[in-house]
Amino acid sequence: MELYIHIPFCVRKCGYCDFLSFPADAAAQEAYMEALLREVKWAGGASGKGAVETVFIGGGTPSVLETGWIRRLLDAVYHCFSVAEGAEITIEANPGALTGEKLRDYRGAGINRLSMGLQSMDNRELYELGRIHTAEEFLENYYMAREAGFDNINIDLMSALPGQTTQSWEETLGRTAELSPEHISAYSLMIEEGTPFWERYGEGREFLPEREKAAGDGSLPPGRKPLAWSCPPLPSEEEDRAMYHRTKELLAEAGYGRYEISNYARPGYECRHNVGYWTRVPYLGLGLGAASFYGGERFSNVREMGRYLALAGQEGGAGHAGEEKASAGGGAGERGRFFGTASWREEAWELSGQDAMEEFMFLGLRLTAGIRAEDFRHAFGREIESVYGSVLERLTGQGLLVRTESGWRLSEWGLDVSNRVLAEFLLEE
Ligand code: SF4
Repeated sequence: MELYIHIPFCVRKCGYCDFLSFPADAAAQEAYMEALLREVKWAGGASGKGAVETVFIGGGTPSVLETGWIRRLLDAVYHCFSVAEGAEITIEANPGALTGEKLRDYRGAGINRLSMGLQSMDNRELYELGRIHTAEEFLENYYMAREAGFDNINIDLMSALPGQTTQSWEETLGRTAELSPEHISAYSLMIEEGTPFWERYGEGREFLPEREKAAGDGSLPPGRKPLAWSCPPLPSEEEDRAMYHRTKELLAEAGYGRYEISNYARPGYECRHNVGYWTRVPYLGLGLGAASFYGGERFSNVREMGRYLALAGQEGGAGHAGEEKASAGGGAGERGRFFGTASWREEAWELSGQDAMEEFMFLGLRLTAGIRAEDFRHAFGREIESVYGSVLERLTGQGLLVRTESGWRLSEWGLDVSNRVLAEFLLEE
């Protein structure tokens, strides 16, 4: 299985971010980490010292934690789980919240993969995003990480940013590839509801500036102030597509293999943790709001810090409050019922056979290698053609899917329009 451990702290909130993250002082961090350590201990016991192949410490910004916490966390993981020899152990780190001392501490704790949030090499774009760092600070941290011995580094990038042009995106890609990280993730910016960016750029907002400039006409909802219209426009749909195509071309020229819709790696450096996610390897999510897929169920922890601290603070974490919630997920498997007793578990979904098949297709086809018919048979005891035969035939005929030796994968065009293609694998009730 895999472990995901959530550290919900950031120096400050970026304008586009809807992740579960927020600033916190040292005392709040300490209270959280103590509770998290108790959850690690509890989960290790509940899983029978489960065998772990990958660990991903994500956030938030785990690197905001004071030096020493990550080592304590991983010591607990090693103690409470059976971590495989050669396990992939990743930590997310953001420039501006990283020091040489922290990097050395991570290496000493056994972390062998670093995932750095750069997003853009253009300082103006970084500023518009609300990031706390400049491109120069990122470079300093990147070289520091190499010096500390990290030989497996991912760099996160984002396209379709406010004010971004295809040229500035090409520059970001080119300068990133020149650094030769082992892995690059390149996603398009999504405008999520509830974020400041939604206010600025969300659906329908493009029509509002004119109205708001003329504010005072009573057209604004009560309590809403007119926006300061310094925010640069988002790239058009055409520019967004151009950036997407340039990503594929430039990274291929630089020697990166595309192994998932938005992920590129040097051979042998594909992220094992995320490939596990796309191939439905069970994982336990620990920490505030963390999601799990375990024992045939998907479930997640409470998202409210006060409740998490109170519940995870109880001895063993699975006290009387857990019994009240034990049946919340319905009749899951043995392990699912057992995890159902964790009092900090908030939501649970027992997947029907149909849900699981849809997931298998949605997640597996994101990988450029595609899915294997044998894996489907093994997971569901049925031939894939008996469930999806007509869809597979139709999409293959349209050139969106390609038959491989062992199964199917999306064609180049299918990857370009993946959202539309994957929706075809929804099964009728
Ligand atoms: S650093 Fe990442 S997690 Fe933190 S606020 Fe920014 S986007 Fe969100």
